[in-house]
Amino acid sequence: MTNEVRVRFAPSPTGALHIGGAHTALFNWLWARHTGGKFILRIEDTDRVRSTAEYEQTIMDGMRWLDLDWDEGPDVGGDYGPYRQTERLDLYNKYAQQLLDEGKAYKDGNAIIYKVPLGLDIGFDDEVYGHIDYKSDALVDGRTGVMKDIVLIKSDGFPTYNYAVVIDDHLMNITHVIRGEDHISNTPKQVLLYKALGWEMPKFAHLPMILGKDKKKLSKRHGATSVYEYRDMGYLPSSIFNFLALLGWAPKGNVEIFDRDLAVKEYQLCDINRKSSVFDFDKLNYINQSHITEMPAEEKFELIRPFWEGMGVDCSKLSMDYLTKVFAIMAGRGKTIKELAEFSDYLVTFAPVAARYDASDLTEEHRAMLKAFCGEFMAARPATPEAMLAFAREWGEKHDAKLKDIAMPLRWMLTGYKVSPGIFEVIELLGFDEVTSRLKHYGLL
Ligand code: GLU
Repeated sequence: MTNEVRVRFAPSPTGALHIGGAHTALFNWLWARHTGGKFILRIEDTDRVRSTAEYEQTIMDGMRWLDLDWDEGPDVGGDYGPYRQTERLDLYNKYAQQLLDEGKAYKDGNAIIYKVPLGLDIGFDDEVYGHIDYKSDALVDGRTGVMKDIVLIKSDGFPTYNYAVVIDDHLMNITHVIRGEDHISNTPKQVLLYKALGWEMPKFAHLPMILGKDKKKLSKRHGATSVYEYRDMGYLPSSIFNFLALLGWAPKGNVEIFDRDLAVKEYQLCDINRKSSVFDFDKLNYINQSHITEMPAEEKFELIRPFWEGMGVDCSKLSMDYLTKVFAIMAGRGKTIKELAEFSDYLVTFAPVAARYDASDLTEEHRAMLKAFCGEFMAARPATPEAMLAFAREWGEKHDAKLKDIAMPLRWMLTGYKVSPGIFEVIELLGFDEVTSRLKHYGLL
C-alpha cells in the first residue's frame, strides 16, 4: 500500500483545459497507469476571482475526451477528500496554527506568514532535471536585505498556492509531483515547508516546456491552445494523446505512431527529456492522419457524422458498405476529420457540388466535345476504373481531345473540386445512375 504510486493533476479552474495542462495530466496519468497506481484530480480553486464551476467542468470534460480517467477527484470522491481546495480550508488553518504554535510562523493582521530561517539547504533532486541547488538565503530580497517570508494564509482566509500544495500533496499521500517546468522555481519554497512541518517529501519531476516553432513559450499566438479547439477542428483524441506524449518522451525505437496501451507499457519517468519540445503542427497533422486512416469505418463515421451534419450534408441514408468504400478512397486525404468531411462531401450528396461549380467556364466547343464523350461513355458504361480510363484515352485519340480536357471538367461536375481521388474511381463509387443525374444537371446528357 505504501509503495503505491499516487500522482495528481491539480488544475486551477480559471480557463479551459489547454495543451500544457493536458500534457501535464497525461504525463501523470501515464505514470499511474504504468505503475498500477492512482491518478488523482485536485481542483486548486483558491483564486476566488478567476475560478468558476464551469471551468472545472470544462477541464473534466477535456480530460474525459482524452480518456484520462481519474481514480479520485471532486466528482468521484476517494479516501483523501475533499478534492477541491476551497473545501479544505480547515486543514490549511490547522497546520498554519501548528506552525504559529511552534513559533515558526507569525501573524500580520489576519495573514499567517512562515518565517524563513537563514542557512537552510532547500535544494531537491528532480527526476528529470537532476539536483537543483537552493539555499534559503537566496530568498532574501537582494535590494532591501530583508528575508521574503512565505505567506501561508492570506488575510482573506485563503491559503497561498505554495502552502496549500504542500498540505494537500502530503495529506493525499502523493508520491510523485509531476508538473510543468515553470514550477521549478516554486519547489524550494515547498521544500522549506515540508521541512518546517517535518514531513517526508514526494519525488519531483518537472516536465520540459512546450515551445512554439519560433522557440517562444506556447501561447495563443501559435494557434489553438485549448483541447476543445482541437476536437472541434477534427483531431482525434488518440492523435492528441499520441502527440502530447511525444512532447518530452518517446517509446523505444523512436516509434512515432502509437496508441495508449503502448505508451502505458513503455512510459518511464527517467526517460523524460529535459530539453524543451516544440509544438509542431505538421507533426500533429501527420499523426492525426495516421490515426484517422487506421480507424475502423464505424468509428470514423461516428466522428465524421457531426461534421457532415454541421455542413448540412445529409448522411443518414448511407450504408456501412458504402461508407467503408468512401473512407478507403479518401485514405490519406484530409489532416483532420473536419477536412475529411469537407473533402468527401460530394460522395454523400450533390448539393455542395452544384454550389461550388456552375460550369460557366466551359466554352461552347468544349461543352460539345464533353457532350459527345458523355453520351458514348454512359452508353458503354465501362465496368472498372481501368476500363473507363482506357475508354477515355481511346475516345480522346479518335476525336483529338486531350485526356485532361475530359477528366478535369468531369471532376469539377462530379466533385466540385479541382483535386480529388482518381475521377474514374469516383465514378465507380458514385455509380452510373448518380453520375448520370449529375451530368444531366450540367446539361451534358
Ligand atoms: N494549480 C497549479 C497550476 O495549475 C498546480 C501546480 C502543481 O501541480 O503543483 O499550475
